[in-house]
Amino acid sequence: MTLRHRIGQGIDFHRLAEGRELWLGGVHLVSSVGCVAHSDGDALIHAICDALLGAAGLNDIGYHFPDTSEELKNIDSKILLRRTVELISAKGYRIVNIDSTVCLESPRLAPYIESMRNTLAETVGINPDSVAVKATTTEKMGFTGRGEGVIAMAVCLIADMIPDNI
Ligand code: MG
Repeated sequence: MTLRHRIGQGIDFHRLAEGRELWLGGVHLVSSVGCVAHSDGDALIHAICDALLGAAGLNDIGYHFPDTSEELKNIDSKILLRRTVELISAKGYRIVNIDSTVCLESPRLAPYIESMRNTLAETVGINPDSVAVKATTTEKMGFTGRGEGVIAMAVCLIADMIPDNI
């Protein structure tokens, strides 16, 4: 048997507005604004879902979890991530590692990073050492710099075992 690796990337954007809770990496952040979305708007989880789906050749998050679905309204994105892991597991893949970056002007993410890593790792069933969450700003430039939105990017590696004779 040979270990076969596949890489995937995902990116997500959400608008920020008052009156919404801010959820990133499965963690609730203290913030006066939150993501405008059909779900809880967790851009980081959505980017990770897309990275995992892309790596497995399984389309994208909108294909599996359409934002027109009543069932998914205000849904906890950790549920979407768990379902995504089930989809890639059904194809025989396991997650090797996840790396990610969130681009947000405020609040500062540093106090939440460990909690995000632990939450994400527990949700997908891997060691927190294999999940990275990094934070950056755009130095006040553009829509993220003006606090109008958030960007999340993720890369993941998945692997399955294939027989040596194919
Ligand atoms: Mg999204």
